[in-house]
Amino acid sequence: MPFTCFHTVHDAVPRSTPITYGYDASRRTMDLVRTWTGRQFIHSGNWWNITPEKRTKEIVLEAQVKKINKHVVGLMSMNVQPGNEPMYWINDDSTGEHMQECLANAIHARDELENQGINAPLYCALQPSTKTMAEIWFQKAIDNDFQHLCVGVSEFLRSPKYRKEGIGRIFEFVITAHNVLGDTGKLHLSGLMSYAMLPVVARLGVTSTDGSTPVQSALAYGSVFTPGTGRGTRASQLIEKNRDAGWKCDCMVCNGLDLESVQDAMQDRSSRVQHNIHAWTDLVDEINHAILPNPSRWFHEHEESISKTMRRYWMRATSLLDSST
Ligand SMILES: [Zn+2]
Repeated sequence: MPFTCFHTVHDAVPRSTPITYGYDASRRTMDLVRTWTGRQFIHSGNWWNITPEKRTKEIVLEAQVKKINKHVVGLMSMNVQPGNEPMYWINDDSTGEHMQECLANAIHARDELENQGINAPLYCALQPSTKTMAEIWFQKAIDNDFQHLCVGVSEFLRSPKYRKEGIGRIFEFVITAHNVLGDTGKLHLSGLMSYAMLPVVARLGVTSTDGSTPVQSALAYGSVFTPGTGRGTRASQLIEKNRDAGWKCDCMVCNGLDLESVQDAMQDRSSRVQHNIHAWTDLVDEINHAILPNPSRWFHEHEESISKTMRRYWMRATSLLDSST
């Protein structure tokens, strides 16, 4: 099954790029979305920055339904976390009540879509904290006839102190989900655009992700990512950081320019967005055409050229995969 990354909506993103937007997307965003030809995924909103009264299962679904158009390939049901603490998963003492609510929200959304005669693919969003919780609740979702699952993962990557642990959990959830879904279901990770993690999660069975990294870091931090390794550099330091390795990119901005001219061009925020999206699109192409058809061979051939981080993730995921079978 082909792997897809859904990116943030921005004017500099090519209109054929897959995008994601929330049920709460602004009128301005939706005006831009109407010019789009790429596939679209409608998010159920980031729980940590929306007040609970504005994010109920009814409000979310109604707003999502209004946004459905012929390019929409997925709707995410409303996920719920235990409380408002983003690090809930590290010392989990929840009763699992929120998981029941997640499942109930998905069932509500499915029944409503059916009643209204809408057949947009619905992703049942669940928020496990542990592998055991994932095993139990992914299975319950399957038993309730869901074939598409979704997990919000940004909170697992949020704290530098617990990132290693968080990444391990994400890998475990993905392996667990793939085991219960088999090859016919779909699995979406929301809030994941890490260049180094994408090939790894795709290889483990994730079929799509959404995230803001290539667009937001270009706008907020002036970051430009090196194609092939995904290393982020501030636009003003491009020459300094890439003098030895050189710069190879055939995006609309860099194509044919020397490194000095690329650095000049990257002073413009839209150029940074265009370039970064191109880097991610190339990675997704490589995942679909070279990695998924034969993961071991790809790794064997690219072990030396990929980033150290990607290599480390790949090896960790491989050992988790081996121990799960
Ligand atoms: Zn470029």
